Amino acid sequence: MILCEGLRKRTARDFQGVIAQLLREIGGDVTPGPIGADEGVDLLWKATDGEFIVQCKKWKAKVGVPVVREVFGAAMRHKSAGAIIVTTSEFTDAAKDWTIDLRIPLRLVDGKQLFDLMDQRMPTFVANVFKEANVARCPVCGDGVDLRLAKVSTSYENKAYYFWAETCLRLFQREPGRFVGVKSPRAEG
Ligand SMILES: [Zn+2]
Repeated sequence: MILCEGLRKRTARDFQGVIAQLLREIGGDVTPGPIGADEGVDLLWKATDGEFIVQCKKWKAKVGVPVVREVFGAAMRHKSAGAIIVTTSEFTDAAKDWTIDLRIPLRLVDGKQLFDLMDQRMPTFVANVFKEANVARCPVCGDGVDLRLAKVSTSYENKAYYFWAETCLRLFQREPGRFVGVKSPRAEG
């Protein structure tokens, strides 16, 4: 996914800054976690329903149980309302199972969810990442389309549109006006 690849190229500190900005857009105040003392805490998010610790993993590999366990332990020590782990990759099934029925909520945000959240809250940032990567956006699903590899394209009102998937192309051709000039088509559901 284009956005996650773009985020992975940044430093860990830059990535934390992006996540801090996203959380502020959602609401509340964000501060860096205590330096050195606790590796499970990158950010502290003071949301309306309490203070959450946030761990950011700009990984390509899946995030597994050891990370989830470490962050949960840190949240308990900090007496937090809960914890959030944000990654550019995915979580293992074992890690997801581990978070069920905990005493405080441990929310896992994977790359796909991160893309959806940032597309809604930070559309300009997302657009710039796509521009840097030199890719077009599929007007239907919003994901990046590398122009050298695009499988299908069509034109509408003298402008070219590119697609990864035939399904997106067919949806577009059926009703192009619905997808053109709309910033975030998926937000319409
Ligand atoms: Zn698409």
